[in-house]
Amino acid sequence: MQDAVPATLAPGSRGSSDALLRLIADSVPALMAYYDLPGLHCQFANQGYAAYNGHTTESILGLTVREAIGDKAWEAIQPHVERCLRREHVKYTREQTLPNGELRMIEVNLIPHFAPGGREQLGAFVLITDITERWRAERTVRQSEERMRKFTEATDEAIVFHRDGLITDGNEALTRLTGYALQEVIGLSIFNFISPEWRAVALDYTRNGREDPYEVTICHKDGHTIPVEVVGKTMPLQHADYRIVVVRDITARKQAQQREAFIALHDPLTQLPNRHFLMEQLAQVLALARRRHGSVAVLFINLDHFKTVNDSLGHHAGDQLLCGVAERLRQDVRDADVVARLGGDEFVVVLTDVRSPDDAARVADKLLASMQRVFTVNELPLTVSPSIGIGLFPDHADQADALVRCADAAMQHAKESGRGNRQFYDPRMDGSAIDVLQHERLLRQAIADSAFVLHYQPQMRLADGALRGFEALVRWRHPQRGLVGPDEFITFSESRGLITPIGRWVLREACRQLKAWQDQGLPQVPVAVNLSALEFRQRDVAGEIATVLGETGLAPHFLEIELTESVLLHQTGEALERLNALKALGIGIAIDDFGTGYSSLAYLKRYPIDKLKIDRSFVADTPDSADDVAIVTAIIQLARTLQIRTVAEGVETPAQMELLARLGCDLVQGHAVSPPLDADGILRWMRALPAPARGGL
Ligand code: C2E
Ligand code: CA
Ligand code: CA
Repeated sequence: MQDAVPATLAPGSRGSSDALLRLIADSVPALMAYYDLPGLHCQFANQGYAAYNGHTTESILGLTVREAIGDKAWEAIQPHVERCLRREHVKYTREQTLPNGELRMIEVNLIPHFAPGGREQLGAFVLITDITERWRAERTVRQSEERMRKFTEATDEAIVFHRDGLITDGNEALTRLTGYALQEVIGLSIFNFISPEWRAVALDYTRNGREDPYEVTICHKDGHTIPVEVVGKTMPLQHADYRIVVVRDITARKQAQQREAFIALHDPLTQLPNRHFLMEQLAQVLALARRRHGSVAVLFINLDHFKTVNDSLGHHAGDQLLCGVAERLRQDVRDADVVARLGGDEFVVVLTDVRSPDDAARVADKLLASMQRVFTVNELPLTVSPSIGIGLFPDHADQADALVRCADAAMQHAKESGRGNRQFYDPRMDGSAIDVLQHERLLRQAIADSAFVLHYQPQMRLADGALRGFEALVRWRHPQRGLVGPDEFITFSESRGLITPIGRWVLREACRQLKAWQDQGLPQVPVAVNLSALEFRQRDVAGEIATVLGETGLAPHFLEIELTESVLLHQTGEALERLNALKALGIGIAIDDFGTGYSSLAYLKRYPIDKLKIDRSFVADTPDSADDVAIVTAIIQLARTLQIRTVAEGVETPAQMELLARLGCDLVQGHAVSPPLDADGILRWMRALPAPARGGL
């Protein structure tokens, strides 16, 4: 408006237009005045201006600016006035509080007025307009922009604005997410940042203005890709629509999903595939083999006596051992082969491509050998012996579950055939493996009927061939199968909680029998009774033995207990206490299967041990195997130093006897002396002994 003020509206120009001008000036929604130079005296003011400053349009005339507006206001505007006097068009806004307290925003224009030709400044127009409404509107926009900026900066989610795919703006988080500075991306297409395989999806969403979330992968400046969830919203604008897109980094969620998927399919301890995953993979492997007319082998692996490790060294050690086994299995087969853990100490290896059963046998043998290398757990050297059953596709079964069942049955058979070996499946195995429940039922019945019998195996002193004792070995009188050996039911009984009644029966029967023989005037030698590690730990064995000795009348020094080394490794002092309690009864303690256990030899000193029984696996290959001779020699010498007597187990040949005698072994037990015999058999055997050999204590 100020630009529209005509230069002819000069002060002093009186005439008929005066009234009209006054009318106009008083009607416009602005305050107007004109001050002339020198001195800046008011020559004209509209009503609004005069009233605003507390004057009438008449009374204000001739006043200086300072007089017209008052000292306080003058102080505030003086610098602006001075600028105007320096020929400058001055424009400023300031807040104005009305007498009623309302806050208004005004815009003040001070417009210098020049004489025609423009050289001389004649005065200055004052034009004041109330811009409160505009100012408020602008302030709202500013505030909402500010809020938007604050909002986009405050969030961790990247936000990008684009128009037809071209980036117009973005927040701080966007630069963090992508690694690009904002200047680098403005003007570029959003599709540049989306991984090529996801561009079509993003294009579809953008074109169709879809506002539901979707997932794509974007590329970081340094080249790595980031999975993101994207939600775009279309914002209508005057010229073109633009989209605001929120981009959320979902790396963590994706990883969690992958982890979950992994966990669902893998054993948490060893990270090997679990049963579920194994069956899935095996089904695929078989499908492929069917198409290619190939062969597949499934190896079912169970660790012998793993329970003993768990029981004696604790679950943590057991876990470590399982991890070690898992690692070795994985190392020993090809990448294409599958190694899975079914749980407990059961593993399955799938050989995806075998040409002949020999191939499978070779791998199984390799695994057997590899497991026998020492594992170090809790600084203890441990070895494991696996029993391996092998099922072949297509020979034994053509479906995954049936094939695994075959391998399982073959594994059971391997266990029954003395453990630590591998067996191929044979249809005849089905009965023995499958009917575990039947087995358990029969065994419970056997316990109820005391359907067991003890066989006794003599122990002979090498120095003079004298009988020095018996070992009692239990057999089960099976209703269909005749006498069944302990390997087929002792471990099984332990796992079913049935060992206690069997152990009690054996103890009582052995003591009773020996006392009966003694009463008949037969040699006065001790009987050794096997006690499983579980029994040793779970029962008050010392108390029970004292009772049985009392009831049968057998003197304590005629009873010996055979324990495997694993019981000695119990971390607590409990083992020592229990052994001392047994010792205090006056009975003997022998360590069975010595050398197969998980021991450092250090413990031997600490315990009250009378005998070491050298495991028959060490004796079997002597004298031919130099390694085994060395082991046996070492055990005998160690025992001597500790003043513990040695018994060699499983002695079958005269050559072994000779070697053992030379090494200074005290006693031998084995077929070379006599196999285990029932009570009648022992009577006959003893009667046949030459008198000096009958020995006695
Ligand atoms: P073990 O204590 O090592 O018993 C020796 C095993 O070696 C016996 O097997 C015996 O028949 C066998 N044997 C003896 N001499 C020879 C030989 O010259 N050559 C060969 N090849 N073998 C020989 P058996 O009777 O089958 O007993 C197996 C295992 O069952 C025993 O091993 C023992 O650990 C356990 N056992 C036996 N009776 C009992 C029992 O009453 N309670 C518990 N808890 N375990 C028992
Ligand atoms: Ca034994
Ligand atoms: Ca033994």
